[in-house]
Amino acid sequence: MTNPLLADWDTPFQLAPFDRISDSDFAPAFDEALAAHLAEVDAIATNPEPANFANTIEALEGAGEALDKVLSVFFTVAGADSTPARQELQRAFSPRLSAHSSAISDNKALFARIAELWDRRDTLGLTAEEDRVLYLTHRGFVRSGAALEGASAERMKAVKSRLAVLGTSFTQNLLSDEAAWFMPLSEADLQGLPEFVVDGARSAGEALGQDGPVVTLSRSLIVPFLQFSPRRDLRQKAFCAWAARGANGGDSDNRGIAAEVLALREERAKLLGYADFASFKLETEMAGTPGRVRDLLMAVWEPAKAQALRDATEMEHMLSADGINDALQPWDWRYYADKRRRVLHDLDEAELKPYLQLDKMIQAAFTCSNRLFGLEFRPLDLPLYHADCRAWEVTRDGKHLAVFIGDYFARASKRSGAWCSAMRSQARRPKPLAPVVINVCNFAKPPKGKPALLSYDDARTLFHEFGHALHQMLSDVDFGSVSGTSVARDFVELPSQLYEHWLEVPEVLAEFATHADTGEAMPQALLDKALAASTFDMGFQTVEYVASAMVDLEFHNGPAPADPMARQAEILSGMGMPAPITMRHATPHFAHVFAGDGYSSGYYSYMWSEVMDADAFAAFEEAGGAFDPATAARLEQFILSKGGSVDAQELYIAFRGRMPGVEALLKGRGLAA
Ligand SMILES: [Zn+2]
Repeated sequence: MTNPLLADWDTPFQLAPFDRISDSDFAPAFDEALAAHLAEVDAIATNPEPANFANTIEALEGAGEALDKVLSVFFTVAGADSTPARQELQRAFSPRLSAHSSAISDNKALFARIAELWDRRDTLGLTAEEDRVLYLTHRGFVRSGAALEGASAERMKAVKSRLAVLGTSFTQNLLSDEAAWFMPLSEADLQGLPEFVVDGARSAGEALGQDGPVVTLSRSLIVPFLQFSPRRDLRQKAFCAWAARGANGGDSDNRGIAAEVLALREERAKLLGYADFASFKLETEMAGTPGRVRDLLMAVWEPAKAQALRDATEMEHMLSADGINDALQPWDWRYYADKRRRVLHDLDEAELKPYLQLDKMIQAAFTCSNRLFGLEFRPLDLPLYHADCRAWEVTRDGKHLAVFIGDYFARASKRSGAWCSAMRSQARRPKPLAPVVINVCNFAKPPKGKPALLSYDDARTLFHEFGHALHQMLSDVDFGSVSGTSVARDFVELPSQLYEHWLEVPEVLAEFATHADTGEAMPQALLDKALAASTFDMGFQTVEYVASAMVDLEFHNGPAPADPMARQAEILSGMGMPAPITMRHATPHFAHVFAGDGYSSGYYSYMWSEVMDADAFAAFEEAGGAFDPATAARLEQFILSKGGSVDAQELYIAFRGRMPGVEALLKGRGLAA
C-alpha cells in the first residue's frame, strides 16, 4: 500500500488527503522523501551533460516535490494541531533537515555547475526572472560557505556549529532565569489589581506550589502587574528582576555568550569576505546597508524621544501628586501611563467586542480583496486536519486561483500567535502549481450557538494574516523559490501590515462591524475612541523599540565589542536614552538577536516594513480613496504578484514612484510634529 503522503493526490485541487493520513505515515514518508530529494540533487550534480539553466537551476527548482508534500502537511499539523507524538517527530526531523540542507549546500559538484553558470550568465540568454533565480541560488550557496576551501571551509563549519550551541544555551539560560524567580503577594498586595491579574497571580502561585498568589517573570503577568500595582516598592522589585534576566551571574549568565556570539559572527562574515556581520546580513535585505538602517532609526528616534519626554513630564507631576519625592523610574512608567490612559481615553474593550463578529470580519477581508483585486470566494466542503478549519476556493473571472484555508480558533494543541503559510506555493515551472494558503489564528472559541466575537487587536490580526495570504494567492511568477512571500525579511510584512489599513476604512466598518444582537453599525464615536487610543504611549513604545534596534545594529557593525554591556551603555548614552525608559530587550535577554540568527542586525525590520505600509496606504489616499482601482492594480502588478522575482527596492519604486519617507509612519504613530 502506498503511503498517502507520497501517493498522487487525486483529491479536489490536489489538496492533501487529510482523512487518509495518520501520524504513523509521517516518519516513513519523511525518510523516503528526504532520500528521493538527495538522489535528485545528486543526479543534477553528476549530470554528464554540460550545465545549462534547465538541467541545473530549473531542475533544482523542481526537485524535492515529495519532500515539499510531506513537510507541508507535517508542519501544518505540528503547528496548528500538535500532539506529543507529533512533537517527538518534530524533534527527530529538525536536526535531520538541517543536515539535509548542509549536505546540499556542501555538494561541491553541484556548486561547480552553479558557479560556472553564474560566470557566463551574460551569454545564457536568460529571462529577467531566470537571471534573478540564478543570482539568488548562487548567492545562497556562497553565503553558506560553498566557495570556501581547506582551512577556511573547516573553520566555517566549526564557527556555525559553535553558534548553534551558543544560541541554544542562550535560550535555555533565559528560560531558567525566568523560571527561577517569583514574588509572593499577600492579600493586601493584590489591591488595585484588576481581576484578570489577580486570577493570573493565583494560578501562577498554584502552579508553583505556593500557598498564595505570586508574580512571575512571564510577560503576560509581569507587564499588567507593572501597569496596575499601586505599590511602588513591589513594582521596583519585580521590574529589577525582570530587567536582570540573563544577567544574574553563575551558570545561567548570558553576557559571556553574547560576547562570544558577536565575535564568531564577525569571524563568519570575514571568512566570506564581508567587512562585518551587519554588512553580510543586510546584503539580502531591502535596507541593504547599515547606514540606511541607521538613517531610518534616527529619523524616528528624535520625534519619538521628544514625545516620550513630554509624556514623562506629565507623569512626573502625577508622581509628586502621589506624594513621591523622586524622579520617574522605569518601574513607574507603565503604572502612570495607564492612569493617564484612563483619564484621556475612557475606552472599554468590552464595548467594542459585540461589533466585531468573526464571520463578518472574514467577509470584510474577502470583500475588500474583491473590490481591490476582483477575488471571489466559494466555500468548500473538504476533509481538513481539524473540524474548526474552513476552506474556500478563490477565483477571478471564473478562473481558479487558489485554495484558502482559515483555522481561526485557539485550542490547546495549537501554538500561540498567528501565522500564514503556503501549503503549496505558486509556480509555473517546471510544473504549474496553484497556491494552497492557510491562515492560523488564536481567537477565543464562542460557546455553542453564539457568534465568535473578536477584540480590535484580533480583527487587525485577521486582516494582517489575510494580507500575507494575498501575497501568496496573487503570486504570478515562474519559479516557486521566488513566489509569494519568498522575499527579503524587511519587505515581507509590507502586504500584511498594509492590509490592516482596510479594517479602519469607515465604509468597511459601517458595513461589517455590526452589533451581534441588534445588527446596528458601530457608532462613529466608539470607533474614534478606539483609533485615538491606539496611538497612546507611542513615544515610550517607539523609544524602547528603537533603542533595541540600534544596539542590535551597532553590535554587528564594525569590530565585535569585547564587552557588550559596556558597548550597550555607550550606544544608549550616545542616543540620549531617556532615563525612565529601558530597552525593550536588553542584551542578556535579547533572544531575537542571540537565540538564533533570524533577527540579528534585523530587529529594525519591523519598523522598516511599517514605514512602507504607512507610505503605501497613503498612495491610495492621495489617489482619492482606499479602493482606488489604478493604485490597486499597481499594488498587484508591482508588489503582490511579483514575490521575490525582482529586487524589493525596484518593486517599491515601481509601485510608488519613489522610496518611502518616514512622514506617514510618524503620523500613524501620532508622533508627527
Ligand atoms: Zn506578518
